[in-house]
Amino acid sequence: MVSKITKLFEPGKIGRLSVRNRIAMAPMGIIGLTESDGRISEQGIDYYAERAKGGVGLIISGVCFPTLEIEFGPLLKLGIAPLFRADTPEVIPRLRELAEAVHNYGAKIAIQLSAGFGRVISPLLLGMGLENVAPSALPNVWDLRITTRELTTEEVERLVKSFGTAAEIVASAGFDAIELHGHEGYLMDQFMTSLWNKRTDKYGGDLDGRLRFVLEIIENIKNKAGKDFPIIFRYAIKHYIEGGRDVEESLEIARRLERAGVDALHVDAGCYDDWYWPHPPNYQPPGCMVDMAEAVKKVVKIPVITVGRLGYPELAESVLREGKADFVALGRPLLADPQWPLKAQEGRLEDIRPCIGCHEACLGRIFSGGYLSCAVNPACGNERELEIKPAERPKSVLVVGGGIAGMEAARVAALRGHKVALYEKGDRLGGHLIPGSVPEFKRDVALLRDYYTTQLKKLGVKIELGKEVTPRLVEEMKPEVVIMATGSTAIVPDIPGIEKGIVVTAIDLLLGQKKAGERVIVAGGGLVGCETALYLAQQGKRVTIVEMLEEIIPDVFEANKQHLLKLLAENYVSVLTNARLGRVTDEGAIVVNKRRRYEAELKADTVVLALGLKPERGLIEALQGKVPELHVIGDCEEPRKIMDAVWSAFYTTRLI
Ligand code: SF4
Repeated sequence: MVSKITKLFEPGKIGRLSVRNRIAMAPMGIIGLTESDGRISEQGIDYYAERAKGGVGLIISGVCFPTLEIEFGPLLKLGIAPLFRADTPEVIPRLRELAEAVHNYGAKIAIQLSAGFGRVISPLLLGMGLENVAPSALPNVWDLRITTRELTTEEVERLVKSFGTAAEIVASAGFDAIELHGHEGYLMDQFMTSLWNKRTDKYGGDLDGRLRFVLEIIENIKNKAGKDFPIIFRYAIKHYIEGGRDVEESLEIARRLERAGVDALHVDAGCYDDWYWPHPPNYQPPGCMVDMAEAVKKVVKIPVITVGRLGYPELAESVLREGKADFVALGRPLLADPQWPLKAQEGRLEDIRPCIGCHEACLGRIFSGGYLSCAVNPACGNERELEIKPAERPKSVLVVGGGIAGMEAARVAALRGHKVALYEKGDRLGGHLIPGSVPEFKRDVALLRDYYTTQLKKLGVKIELGKEVTPRLVEEMKPEVVIMATGSTAIVPDIPGIEKGIVVTAIDLLLGQKKAGERVIVAGGGLVGCETALYLAQQGKRVTIVEMLEEIIPDVFEANKQHLLKLLAENYVSVLTNARLGRVTDEGAIVVNKRRRYEAELKADTVVLALGLKPERGLIEALQGKVPELHVIGDCEEPRKIMDAVWSAFYTTRLI
């Protein structure tokens, strides 16, 4: 690894555009950060300004639409434009405010323009009256029963023209560049790809025909915004699906785009059908798409931007030093920590709050109707309202429990000027983050734990390890505020044989308190159970997951779910759904199928329990009414995910 981060902070150029360093903010949809008429909201402007302030060189906005007329036509007629748009002069004032806010902090801003969704539109949006159109009649990716309508040639020509109009609008609003959204299997990508483009008019056929849509858009932008207005093109080098684009054709596309006057190429992989490429979860290795940027760099002279799990400053630096790319784009790392660039530049790597690859509050929240945010940074997307401000009166605060919720509460309370003591009965801070970071694919959770332990030390939080808090201790300490973050413990079902030596909880197994044998049953197909199963299977063990519900990991974000299911299958993990442990025997367990009502014996050397957690509430009851201010946060309130623990700690402590 490199010793000093310098290359990342060399100025760079994209066409005529000078950028202060080599860090771009990758485009991420700003659903929930726009007004109902499609203008970016004040909240959205704050969100980008915060990242510009944090030192990023070039911001590439979330996807914006040069026209809503075709796909969104029925909604537009009702005066509703639920997505970021650049199709009318009415949006210019807010766009100008956004560009100015970013420029004021020394960063540059490109707008990402998209032709639309096509086959990847959500049936939820279709239910609101949107039209499902595409280059050809194709099955909708979410619901194969829905078939898209083929766009007419005249409609495609209108789409092309809309990019010229949008280019004029964004250039007049002070934007520095346009990125074309040619990736992830959206409409533009559908036109480029033979798998999805079956047209027989001038926009289909061979590569010339399939690229015509894109090349006409580029020409149109140049005609309207100026020949040298910088254009970045983002696309996948490999779709990784049967019939998808391969590397050879992608490299030919790179050459043609360069000839057409594109100023930089931003390269990724995959599409909606394998979402774990364009939105890589924690199971993807760091820098998972750098090799694709490297391949493109060999065939063009224009700058190449690489993206995908690059939130590790030393890795990002080495990618540039080794000449594999010219710019590094960070998406989620800048949601988790907008100050990533400044901290990396100052060599304060230990202060960077890491993205953990969960997708819970970024894409996950967007898909469930919320605004874009972050599991480990609740202020993301609502920066002004949720700014951490000094407390009106500093208080003595006792935090009981050093898991994720307790650590976040201690951090926020200390930042606000309170005098904080944190007591943890174990010998380390981290709580469930400790077992939860054991598998290699959970490396970011280990980084998160390190981040908190460092921050608490730097903030002067008094940390007492190996000390159990009792009502008596609280009485002696007389804190003004007690924050209970006592966490949760594993649920152990009351079934025959549960006391046998072959049974272990997932937590104890991951902590190394017991070793698993060669044949393992994992009871529970939630995230903990499935990740533990994968961890064991990767060690060569034969693993069977037994899950009561119809499916495993039902409440995990789609990209993460797709990837984890694929990895489980690749590692030969068997899955029994609609089934539960009936009893544990000396040689395994009797599994009861609740649907077909049969029992069967599964031979196993180890039975791992991953059946959920129950809150540790003992002390809470004992302290009720005995301290001036008592708050209950995290798992001891209700065992949930990392995001819920962080958010409950943050929201509680910001008001103390
Ligand atoms: Fe990263 Fe999860 Fe935050 Fe998304 S929600 S930015 S994946 S930590």
